[in-house]
Amino acid sequence: MTPSIKRLLVLQQAHLRLAQLHRQLMAMPAERERLQKGAQEAQAAEDDARARLRQAEADLRRLEMDTETLRQRKRDFQTKTAIIRNNDEYRAALDQIAQCDRGLDDLENRQLATMERLDQLRQELERQTQLTQEAQRGAQAAIDQLAAQEADLAERIAAQKARLPELKQGIDPDFLREYLRLRTSPATPQTRPVLVPIVGEACGACHLNVTAQLCANARAGRSIVCCPSCHLMLYWDGD
Ligand SMILES: [Zn+2]
Repeated sequence: MTPSIKRLLVLQQAHLRLAQLHRQLMAMPAERERLQKGAQEAQAAEDDARARLRQAEADLRRLEMDTETLRQRKRDFQTKTAIIRNNDEYRAALDQIAQCDRGLDDLENRQLATMERLDQLRQELERQTQLTQEAQRGAQAAIDQLAAQEADLAERIAAQKARLPELKQGIDPDFLREYLRLRTSPATPQTRPVLVPIVGEACGACHLNVTAQLCANARAGRSIVCCPSCHLMLYWDGD
């Protein structure tokens, strides 16, 4: 392996490391969003539980009002019975009172059921509020950690970039130009090597065989050798 190829491999290693760091950095906003979403979902569930409780409280108030109205109605009929002289009217009033009693029984049952439901809903809200607090605390801690990682990554990326000019020194300009062309080509994933070894008698990337002539050229290291199939740069990984 020529010194030029050796240096090019070091440069490639730096580029790949840089791409990896970039990829980690790019994944951070989505991760932050995911964490925030988890906390928001817990908050939404809590809001939901609170709304159900408020609704049940309103139901109970309405039942209490209905009960009060019906009680008043019953009292009115009871007052009436005291002054009615006609038998039919008297019976009708008694029927009305009996109807009020049935209505009051029904309202009482519904009030009891609603109160039971209120107890459950209060417990549910309490549980959900606790879950929200835990989720928010957890998310905040993870987001803080993420911010620290982000800052650290940005620092490492800057340091890695600063090394690049120095790493380019001592590389054959033609080799460097071809390497950089492949490296910056939109067709090449940033995290994949573009300078690949010949393994056996095949390209280290696409694994298709290369000719003996290309192997010999790569071994001599005087000219740029590219894989005829995937067009990546080949080097001889040996003496
Ligand atoms: Zn290939």
